[in-house]
Amino acid sequence: MTIAQIHPGIVRITLPLPGKKPGPVHIYLFRGKHNTTLLDTGTYLFSHALKLALGRLGLGYQDLDSIVLTHGHVDHCGAVRTIVRQNARGVRVCAHRDEIPTIQAGFDAPPHVYARFLAHTGTPLPYRLAIGVMLGSFQMLAQGCAVDAALHEGDQLALGDHPARVVATPGHTRGSISLFLEKEGLLFSGDHILNHITPNALPMLERELALPLRQSQIEYFNSLEVVAGLAPRIIYPAHGDRITDFDAIHRMYQRCFTDRQNTLLAILCQHPPESIYATARKLFPRIGGRSFLLDLYLAISETYSHLQVLAADDRVRMEMTGRVLQVTASR
Ligand SMILES: [Zn+2]
Repeated sequence: MTIAQIHPGIVRITLPLPGKKPGPVHIYLFRGKHNTTLLDTGTYLFSHALKLALGRLGLGYQDLDSIVLTHGHVDHCGAVRTIVRQNARGVRVCAHRDEIPTIQAGFDAPPHVYARFLAHTGTPLPYRLAIGVMLGSFQMLAQGCAVDAALHEGDQLALGDHPARVVATPGHTRGSISLFLEKEGLLFSGDHILNHITPNALPMLERELALPLRQSQIEYFNSLEVVAGLAPRIIYPAHGDRITDFDAIHRMYQRCFTDRQNTLLAILCQHPPESIYATARKLFPRIGGRSFLLDLYLAISETYSHLQVLAADDRVRMEMTGRVLQVTASR
């Protein structure tokens, strides 16, 4: 656990996460005369470390006035219920309207929805079962929690003494937000923009499976354009180093995604119609080792979201054959 003052009235607390990727999670504490706000909380598993960090800053959970959540993944909102329970004064929990069901339930979609989605991708049954167990284990890192205030694009908030604008940046999840401190040019991007890896535009699964899903990769790109329009001076992500040259990161993401889609098209041109799973294994031939199941799920989900982009451009066709989506390059 580390603590660093990054700006007057803004402290970054870094907490560990299990596994290697995406690396330790940053939580931002905004301290002001009339308002103390936490941006994200880390996992339930490391809530004791968060308490310790706040203690070193002379604060307890009861001193927090509000918690703003960038999105509903366990490494961002896992400890929120613990804090609410231990704050007798009442702490206001805020999140984007579209993310509230995930935060309240502690997961975005129930296991049978993941299982059905993976079945449609052609993933073999043993892997579907194993991925289901893995995703279930992630739920131990979070507890569902009620959200008090629904946020929307353009809402103004007080983060400590800093006025901040809510910027809806869907793509990584359906209700991901960034917070923009306009005067200082600071953007707190959650998982929308990371310095060291390209973020995943994950499938936006709901309570019930209804294909086609929202086009997460396309929404992700649109959200990048929104950030480009803000021209932030410094971006503080939830993992990894701060970003001072957004244009370079933006270009790098575009290059990576274009390469990925060109490789996908080349694979599909060489093969007969096949499943998303089979295509993902060709696109990511080297996945394996201890994080195999997580990497496999991310490979399948990334392949699906890129195929949605190609299908929207009429460069590929995705058609349901039996229970499995078959993918073909358009001729
Ligand atoms: Zn995330």
